[in-house]
Amino acid sequence: MNLSNSLVWFRRDLRAFDHAALHQALSNSRQVFCAFVYDTDILDGLPRDDRRMRFIHASLASLDAELRRLGGYLIVRHGSAREEIPRLAREVQAGAVFANSDYEPAARTRDDAVAEALAAQGAELHLFKDQVIFEKDEVLTKVGQPYSVFTPYKNAWLKLLGERPDTLAAYPVDAAAHALAKPPKTHDALPALEAIGFTSGDPPLPAGMEGAEELFEAFLEDIADYGRARDFPSEDGTSRLSAHLRFGTTSVRHLVRTAQQLIQSGAGGKGASVWLSELIWRDFYAMILYRHPHVVERSFKPAFDAVGWDDDQDADALFAAWCAGRTGYPLVDAAMLQLNTTGFMHNRLRMVTASFLTKDLGIAWQRGERYFALKLNDYDLASNNGGWQWAASTGCDAQPWFRIFNPVTQSERFDARGEFIRRFLPQLARLDAKQIHAPWKVAPEALAARGVVLGKDYPQPVVDHDAARKRTLERFAVVKKVVPVAEGDGDGDGED
Ligand SMILES: Cc1cc2nc3c(=O)[nH]c(=O)nc-3n(C[C@H](O)[C@H](O)[C@H](O)COP(=O)(O)OP(=O)(O)OC[C@H]3O[C@@H](n4cnc5c(N)ncnc54)[C@H](O)[C@@H]3O)c2cc1C
Repeated sequence: MNLSNSLVWFRRDLRAFDHAALHQALSNSRQVFCAFVYDTDILDGLPRDDRRMRFIHASLASLDAELRRLGGYLIVRHGSAREEIPRLAREVQAGAVFANSDYEPAARTRDDAVAEALAAQGAELHLFKDQVIFEKDEVLTKVGQPYSVFTPYKNAWLKLLGERPDTLAAYPVDAAAHALAKPPKTHDALPALEAIGFTSGDPPLPAGMEGAEELFEAFLEDIADYGRARDFPSEDGTSRLSAHLRFGTTSVRHLVRTAQQLIQSGAGGKGASVWLSELIWRDFYAMILYRHPHVVERSFKPAFDAVGWDDDQDADALFAAWCAGRTGYPLVDAAMLQLNTTGFMHNRLRMVTASFLTKDLGIAWQRGERYFALKLNDYDLASNNGGWQWAASTGCDAQPWFRIFNPVTQSERFDARGEFIRRFLPQLARLDAKQIHAPWKVAPEALAARGVVLGKDYPQPVVDHDAARKRTLERFAVVKKVVPVAEGDGDGDGED
């Protein structure tokens, strides 16, 4: 390629270092324009006070500042990307648009439409792998099939990385940054969120490239203990980098490189290997979504579509109680309040609440998946769908349906002293560590002595776990006949 002008279209890669599309554009063009589109096709479906918009806005400010430091700037548009990108390419006379691949079905359809519109005006869309370490069909079984179970996928992934260490090489930006188009004197500032119909305010977590690096450096101090600490929601034991990985304010190559160095030097203890596995789960689910786009709506294995979920008025009321954190199960409720008030939920609690919705309340995983999509700062279709289908036992590498999380024993194991529960349910703060996991089992007088009246200060449980467990086993009987009973392979501890 030897282009005069080109355009880099930033999407879920809001950084100006180790960036495949930016690197390729700079290496192949005399002048490179950079742009982001607040895409109304996505934004129109979001609530006006969506926390993620504040994260994106702050991250765009950081990206623009960094591009300016390098001599360029960021053009920001508001409209349908399908129209804005071809229009902008015409305006800056770009012969090509460079972007990093997005594997979600809707994004692929959008990119096909943009490529077609560009082709009609004599320009091309070039897509690059950037979001994951291995994409699409790169990791296959010996007979050339995609994996559907995590551990063999992970082993093949690690083997492939050993064979192709260059995969982790950074895509430098600085060396060719002189090709960045200079900011015009009259360039508009980044539009304020109000100007595009959203509420402004502080981002829900440190945003932008600096925010990601700050979190990563803090996490590296404790990474050796990650294997233990990651299971306890009251501890600050995980990286909190998920929203940064989602919006690409950090580079996954940078994270994997660092983890590998710590593993090889021994400085990362056992924790660094466990953490690397989590990043491999992310690649795994991106691959599953790419290869099996039907999972967006349906079960990975069609047989599980026969499972009948409850969807009557009672189910609606139970769903509303789950969303609001009013199920009467303290760990479940505290977790939902963490989600509702902060936009984050600890991984252990995502498993517990997803299991509770599907296995205790008998409600379809799709409803819970949609609720998480609305609320999570780090919402990512591939990982969210994978996590929900895992918890609901509906397919790919799922937790077997006969292993059902018990919300009380999960609470006793992973929040033994009730610290996390107390943080989000202050009305239970005076209950002791024995009482707090299942208040309905405590005598009313003993509860009252601690200031709690069930049904007034805190709900009675909306369901009996043992009865719900039996109903779930019956519900899954339809698949028992067609799918052999085999242990799944995943993070499935803590079952009954
Ligand atoms: C029902 C359910 C829904 C989920 N929805 C999402 C989602 O929408 N977006 C999302 O990023 N993660 C999702 N996860 C995975 C996981 O819960 C979060 O990635 C994690 O809690 C984020 O916290 P962290 O950045 O501190 O993670 P860390 O423990 O520090 O892990 C590092 C990174 O590895 C990746 N990762 C960790 N666990 C998983 C996993 N199980 N699957 C895929 N990637 C993983 C994430 O990118 C994460 O940032 C979901 C899990 C479940 C069970």
